[in-house]
Amino acid sequence: MAESKTGKQKRMRKTVQRLRMEYPQAQCTLTRRNSHELLVATILSAQCTDERVNKVTQRLFRKYPSVKSFAYANVEELSRDIHSCGYHNQKAQSIKGSSLMILEEYGGDVPNTMEDLLSLPGVGRKTANCILGIAFNIPAVVIDTHMIRIMGLMGFVNSKNPEKIEQDVMEITLKEDWIDLTHLIIEHGRNICIAKRPKCMECILNDLCSSQPTKG
Ligand code: SF4
Repeated sequence: MAESKTGKQKRMRKTVQRLRMEYPQAQCTLTRRNSHELLVATILSAQCTDERVNKVTQRLFRKYPSVKSFAYANVEELSRDIHSCGYHNQKAQSIKGSSLMILEEYGGDVPNTMEDLLSLPGVGRKTANCILGIAFNIPAVVIDTHMIRIMGLMGFVNSKNPEKIEQDVMEITLKEDWIDLTHLIIEHGRNICIAKRPKCMECILNDLCSSQPTKG
């Protein structure tokens, strides 16, 4: 029989509680000093590790210290500067384009609504939710590859579509847990529920996970 929404809500509450105990330091690992640098780092993080992004931005944010410097950057040079993050041409266009729009349309400040964020070139829901949650502390759920995989494995969602997953997860998760949930799941995905080789027998969510038999 399909699990009720209330059942999923209870299971999700326990999941968040246990992950908080296990990973009390879980948070966004992208290095940044302000909301615009977070935007740049988040664009760079697509298909790239946070570790690699942080290495690149260490130099990048010194060379381009403001929204204006990214907005008026030479796009070929910017593309070379971010080469090691992959998809560098596309990411350079997005960074320059969104910075220019922030400067010209939003007075130099990163906007704080989903609608305005989505109007920026190269910014999708994942990036927008990340900015809303981390830069502005506005409840938002970021759906990345770890969330897609683990929410599915745990039987919380039955879709691979990020937008549908976002909606389904919001319905079963307390609003005050939305921002933390992604960071907790990312930690769990890096340490235990690793893609293709999840360590189910060591997993603190084993008895809450619909994919796996319980311990012992
Ligand atoms: S029990 Fe296994 S599949 Fe389920 S969350 Fe834990 S590691 Fe992932």
